[in-house]
Amino acid sequence: MLIRASIGTLAAIGEVDTKTLVRPGVAYLLQYSDRGCLGGCYFCAQSSQSIASKDFLSRVVWPAVSLEDVAPKLARVFSRACVQSVIKPDFIAELHEVVRTLSHYGLKISLSTTPIPDEDLKLFKQEGVDYLGVGLDAATPSIATRVNKPYPYGVYLDFISKAVSVFGRGRVVVHLIVGLGETLKEITETIKQVYSVGGAVSLFAFTPVKGTSAESWPRPSLRYYRIVQIINYAVASGLPVEELVDLNRMCVHEDKLSSLSEVTMALLTSGCPMCNRPYYTESPKGEPYNFPTTDLIPPIRDLLRKLSCDVS
Ligand code: SF4
Repeated sequence: MLIRASIGTLAAIGEVDTKTLVRPGVAYLLQYSDRGCLGGCYFCAQSSQSIASKDFLSRVVWPAVSLEDVAPKLARVFSRACVQSVIKPDFIAELHEVVRTLSHYGLKISLSTTPIPDEDLKLFKQEGVDYLGVGLDAATPSIATRVNKPYPYGVYLDFISKAVSVFGRGRVVVHLIVGLGETLKEITETIKQVYSVGGAVSLFAFTPVKGTSAESWPRPSLRYYRIVQIINYAVASGLPVEELVDLNRMCVHEDKLSSLSEVTMALLTSGCPMCNRPYYTESPKGEPYNFPTTDLIPPIRDLLRKLSCDVS
């Protein structure tokens, strides 16, 4: 069976001779469809409605490879695989086969999918999926409509709650794209809502991809993204968000931080265990939105000074 693997994943198992600056923490796989996904999300290169190359997802190349060939190699290098689905005829049945194959080699599996029936969620759990990713993407229902998500917002929210009842609290990771036109207050409320039903949030910076309907939309500012990261970390850790962050002025009250390590943790890629998605949404040349490893984080005091309410 064909499957796509991120170029960094293939480099880690020696399938391609490409130098990568940071090794992926997880084997990143993407369900194969030559015509792309039947969903029409405006920002997504995999959408069949976009003219973007189907070898891309975000700014990363995902060559097609044989699942049977790469599965044992992946298991020698990685402990977890992330399988991202696309919508196509019989995609759920194919996903079960993918999951069973990877499980056979001992890989733990994070499955990222659009809403699917409850029975399939339970079966995926039996087959070896222990974390579920959900592409809610938009911070509000109106943004979901504006970016042409395939299902109504409420369907995603119901799905998140059902998935938590199957996989457990903290094991349903909701993908949120920062910078689709939401306000800081809106994304803060959505992050709180996700954690309140037992989910967790993984942040992605909006990335304009050539050939998609959103190719000319602006990227979020780093300052805005950092503030959202700190909010996400605060909500996940039970810290008082409104005391820590001034949502109107978009700045941080440093004196409310108990330690600088809290900021370090906030800036790392959030998501399933070991998920670091190196350079998924940015070039390695600049400061990344999500830091894939603590080694790359600049001196935290300097970074925090730029975000402090005392100087802004
Ligand atoms: S958080 Fe990372 S590993 Fe988990 S589903 Fe999302 S991309 Fe995959």
